Amino acid sequence: MPFDLLLKGGRVVDPSQSLNAVMDVGARDGHITQIAQNLDETGCLDVRDVSGKYVCPGLIDLHGHWYEGNLFGINPLICMDHGVTTAVDAGTTGYANFPEFRRTVLDRSLADVFAFVHISLMGLHAPYAEELVDLRYARPLETAAVIDKHRDRAVGVKIRIGTMTGNHGLAALDIALTAARDARVPLMVHVSRGAEEAKILHRLRPGDILTHCFHGRSNGMIAETVIPEAREAKDRGVFFDVGHGAGSFSWDTARKAFEHHFYPDTLSTDLHRYSVSEPLSITLPQVMSKMLCIGMSLEDVISKTTTIPARALGREREIGNLRPGSIADILIFDLETGDFPFTDTHLKVCRGSRRIVPHLVVKKGRVHAPGSISIDLRELYESDMDVIRGIG
Ligand SMILES: [Zn+2]
Repeated sequence: MPFDLLLKGGRVVDPSQSLNAVMDVGARDGHITQIAQNLDETGCLDVRDVSGKYVCPGLIDLHGHWYEGNLFGINPLICMDHGVTTAVDAGTTGYANFPEFRRTVLDRSLADVFAFVHISLMGLHAPYAEELVDLRYARPLETAAVIDKHRDRAVGVKIRIGTMTGNHGLAALDIALTAARDARVPLMVHVSRGAEEAKILHRLRPGDILTHCFHGRSNGMIAETVIPEAREAKDRGVFFDVGHGAGSFSWDTARKAFEHHFYPDTLSTDLHRYSVSEPLSITLPQVMSKMLCIGMSLEDVISKTTTIPARALGREREIGNLRPGSIADILIFDLETGDFPFTDTHLKVCRGSRRIVPHLVVKKGRVHAPGSISIDLRELYESDMDVIRGIG
């Protein structure tokens, strides 16, 4: 059978198969069908010469905000421009508004979108009185029930701990863990100012996710060294996610972690209304390029945006790899060399010599050109500036 799409002569990097070689990739009916050298193009209507380019699985962004009924949310269409073929919403909605989120976004999006459901009934609040300052908003039974009803899209429970939990962060964490246990899904924990990270890490289970691991605020798990609770959590299978965002990535913290051989498991954007625009204009290839900048290998940055997030979602059979039978979600990119400035969320600049630039994005076998998508963003109010200044 001829291919629908044939990508010829690119350097294929697929960590799931320990593959880094010049090869052709053939797809049919939205799935990868063959990967080998010199595939026969007879009868294939869409043959692309991608020699000189890199070819990897479509990227998975484990942390973003994709519900525009919330102050944080933006349209997930923008992901496709960044080579992200699977986006994950990190608890923008709770059980009360998840069904509407599903109807209006998850069921319609060009990129696949999965979602963590916030333990607080309406998801994120910002910025006035945050979502768990009153613990009555934490709803374990309803959260587990809505996840159970939407298992094809709802992949876990989310909580933010810090100012958003007032002085009862650990009590709120226990409620969220109860919901995650009942629904048999992972818990994703955002840590920010005031979170007791050692105690939080101690409670997390294998498969749970700690996001914003390089936030760079004082009293975090990485200061002069990495606290033992973080290493113990990593050893038992807790995922550490970057979640760059508008306030959660510090060069100094990342470097310190690398010096102590403590690496993130997954790279993600925390893309939302406040991180999508200037001065940060976050994209996942940019976060990946930042990791190249401080010494991570290209194979590792690809693994941490494909194979490993797919595993964190329990979907490593279908996505995050280029094995025959998997969904034909593919990124073709250039690895540009030069002198590039990369800014962290403290506006500190680090210069790097390589950056990843998407060339073509394939979603379920269909090719899209980056740069072809623009989205409308809601207007910012004066109060939004408070969020931008104090976010994390
Ligand atoms: Zn977030």
